[in-house]
Amino acid sequence: MTTEKKPRGGARGKLRAHFLANIGRVMDTDELRAVAENQSEWARRVRELRTEEGYLILTHNDRSELKPGQYLLETPKPQPAFERSISKETRAYVLDRNGFTCQMCGAVAGEAHPYDPSRKTRLHLGHVIDKSVGGSDDPSNLRAICSVCNEGASNATLMRPDLQKLLIQVRRATSVDQLELMKWLIKKFPKQAAESVDR
Ligand SMILES: [Zn+2]
Repeated sequence: MTTEKKPRGGARGKLRAHFLANIGRVMDTDELRAVAENQSEWARRVRELRTEEGYLILTHNDRSELKPGQYLLETPKPQPAFERSISKETRAYVLDRNGFTCQMCGAVAGEAHPYDPSRKTRLHLGHVIDKSVGGSDDPSNLRAICSVCNEGASNATLMRPDLQKLLIQVRRATSVDQLELMKWLIKKFPKQAAESVDR
């Protein structure tokens, strides 16, 4: 007996099952057309998997290393419905404001994740105040969260460092790294940086 579910929903279901069975593998149009049994609307079905079901199927519009006509699904986890409802502009605004950095663990978009180097860091939007306790979808209540933190995986491994331990780490770092840190802090706290120089 196999517990594998038969794909449902015609071409879309077959495509969904095929993407989920081929996580992380780049596929081209010939392959997907064949999976959809040559249905002319197969590309539209793929789009529906993105827009209606939230699967993060990447194309050359998302990734420079993908050629036109190539598709890639990296994670079986669809985007939550709220994230799909947020405009591209709001998403770009929040990610830019957060410096394309996960606000929980500090992982940077596109770089190897510090707690799981096999994964490239992908950022999602999360709520600062959870919706269940009245938080809104307003940009002021949104922040960048990486997929690892989003899945709760880094909670167990990551504790916020206390100030003393943090200072010890910083003092032991190379001057080059300390200067990088300074630049990052000045960028993050421009007002406070200017005030402390004026004094
Ligand atoms: Zn994170």
